[in-house]
Amino acid sequence: MMKVVQGDITTLEVDAIVNAANQVMLGGGGVDGAIHRAAGKELFDACLKVPEVRPGVRCPTGEARITPGFKLPAKFVIHTVGPVYRDGQHGEQEKLANCYRNSLALAAENGCRSVAFPCISTGVYGYPVEDAARIAVSEVSAFLTSHADMTIAFCCFSDYDRQVYEKLLKTGGWINV
Ligand code: ADP
Repeated sequence: MMKVVQGDITTLEVDAIVNAANQVMLGGGGVDGAIHRAAGKELFDACLKVPEVRPGVRCPTGEARITPGFKLPAKFVIHTVGPVYRDGQHGEQEKLANCYRNSLALAAENGCRSVAFPCISTGVYGYPVEDAARIAVSEVSAFLTSHADMTIAFCCFSDYDRQVYEKLLKTGGWINV
């Protein structure tokens, strides 16, 4: 099932929380900074051990990597890198969809039954939240058709984001990408 929650993702007692990371995976602002602060220095050390695929890149845009959650209530952190939004004409949709797809696949491979996502790319990366939410809900609902036992939460930080997701889930008005 899918649900919407509002609040700080670092407090959620789920098997995995997803981090809107950057390619170097060593922390940053927004939700990334909050997750690193709450998980403790061990998360930084675990991220450092993730091999670079090229200099400065541990996780290319659209891919996902998994680490333990350390001091977090969540068992795992799944780090994914959303696209920086330009104008919607630079493959942003597909890249954002890949974040959800690859994070969910990694969660399932690691036996997670409950996963919480932040609104990936909609902060500093500038993705319009309505468009991002349609992609998120579309990917999660497609995944749930083959993983009916899992619970996926959309963890919204703001009232506005929560309203966008609630409306989408109520109307079923998401697109398939
Ligand atoms: P990005 O660089 O992918 O845009 P940001 O961290 O800037 O990532 O923003 C992504 C979303 O995470 C935004 O909606 C922001 O409000 C939200 N956010 C920030 N801190 C938290 C938190 N502690 N828990 C959940 N969501 C958060």
